[in-house]
Amino acid sequence: MESATASMKYPKVKNFYNGEFVESASSEYLDVTSPIDGNLLSSVPMSTADELNKAVQSAKAASESWGQQPIKERVQVFFRYRSLLEQNSDELTALIVEENGKTWDEAKAEVDKSIELTEFACSMPQLVSNEVLEVSRGVECRVEHFPVGVVASIAPFNFPLMVPNWSMPNALVLGNTMVMKPSELVPLSVLRMAQLLKEAGLPDGVFNVINGGKDIVEGICSHPNIEAVSFVGSTKVAKLVYQQSTNNLKRCVALGGAKNHLFVLPDANPSMTATNVTASMSGCAGQRCMAASAMLAVGNVDPIIAQICDEARKIVPGKNLGAVISKAAKERIEGYITQAERDGAKILVDGRGAVVEGKEGGTYVGATVIDFVTPEMSVATEEIFGPVISIMRTDTLDEAIKIENANPYGNAAAVFTQSGGLARYVMEHASAGMIGVNIGVPVPREPFSFGGWNDSRFGANDITGKSSIEFWTKLKKTTTKWNPEAGINWMS
Ligand code: NAD
Repeated sequence: MESATASMKYPKVKNFYNGEFVESASSEYLDVTSPIDGNLLSSVPMSTADELNKAVQSAKAASESWGQQPIKERVQVFFRYRSLLEQNSDELTALIVEENGKTWDEAKAEVDKSIELTEFACSMPQLVSNEVLEVSRGVECRVEHFPVGVVASIAPFNFPLMVPNWSMPNALVLGNTMVMKPSELVPLSVLRMAQLLKEAGLPDGVFNVINGGKDIVEGICSHPNIEAVSFVGSTKVAKLVYQQSTNNLKRCVALGGAKNHLFVLPDANPSMTATNVTASMSGCAGQRCMAASAMLAVGNVDPIIAQICDEARKIVPGKNLGAVISKAAKERIEGYITQAERDGAKILVDGRGAVVEGKEGGTYVGATVIDFVTPEMSVATEEIFGPVISIMRTDTLDEAIKIENANPYGNAAAVFTQSGGLARYVMEHASAGMIGVNIGVPVPREPFSFGGWNDSRFGANDITGKSSIEFWTKLKKTTTKWNPEAGINWMS
């Protein structure tokens, strides 16, 4: 049902194709509310199959001329886009705070990271300068990167601006045109991104936005004119998207959920460890795919656990802790804590029932520390996606590694120790794509690529950095001979 528009802060969310913002003809709209206070921000259409088709046709029509521009010309748009992100940083930050519920500093970091991602895309001409070699006497072989064509990007709610910027600048600079589907929970930042790209001079049709949910995602995975799909979201949906896209013979990279383990060893620096563990589990209200979720306390680390509790008690919802995305998320997270208590774990710091004065409609969960968790409890095995750390105690490092390895996810893991040898041992044996040593959120910054292992990523490539070049391009190999006098050998 369409929402009453009178009390909405922003107009209804539109789609964007052929360089125009277009109101959806759909009869189904969902409310977009702010997790901070529950206020109605806008409403988002569950767009129709016909509208998806229009967005894809827009991308297809723009594909040839955009793909044929030299990369050094395409990249000029992104130098301007980067400046516009910087000029509009405060406004974008405020929008992320509103629609996602992050704190100002967290939202600002998301804008800064989007700038860094764009800077990487601007360096692409240096990275894809093509290779040429005389492979036989007088015969030259040249390898060139060609765009894949029309590509799609499907985004989650937890980074309304940064995750769309994981895929968009690289894919477009490399000559593709794109249809993006933002999360229906946070559709506003991507629309602002579309405006900024237009202002930066991006030709019409190169970037398109289609709003919707499951039906649009399925439509993307089966659309005959879409060549490649990138997805970021939960493992359940990542698997579906990967299966559907590849079944329809598209290339796909699908990043899924996470359950990140931190190994805390007795020789770890106590204050550095406590601040890192707490910041990792509670930053962005624990709604980061890189958030610490399980802590493996190896041997006696009681003094460090006590400091973690002290740090967690300093975290104040609505002040230095943002909201979780929805009432359903709050209930799910608090349900996990209650279940752990029933299963016999000990709640050392309890974030249930958090209310922020004056923002009673907001959805907050306080930082929570759960001790004496055992490996079969749901707080040990499942992604909670809230500001909660589940501590499991082990006698040996190998026992801890066994627990980490048994988890089906594999996004990140981190170790806190002063021993280089033990850190290296964890780096080698943890089954995760991104490892931190004395770092709680080990995001590899550009130019290094982002991507996990196991159920945290399906497909051969990482989604950012150099690894993404392979995903967004096709290689063409040309063998040339001009000079008959060069002579002949078995390969000429
Ligand atoms: P989600 O899987 O619910 O939604 C992601 C996208 O899929 C949205 O655009 C949504 O509209 C669509 N979708 C939802 N259900 C669908 C269905 N049944 N069929 C087809 N499409 C569907 O994820 P979310 O709740 O928005 O985001 C949180 C999740 O994303 C967490 O699991 C988190 O770990 C993960 N995440 C992972 C990474 C990573 O890099 N691995 C990064 C960010 C978020």
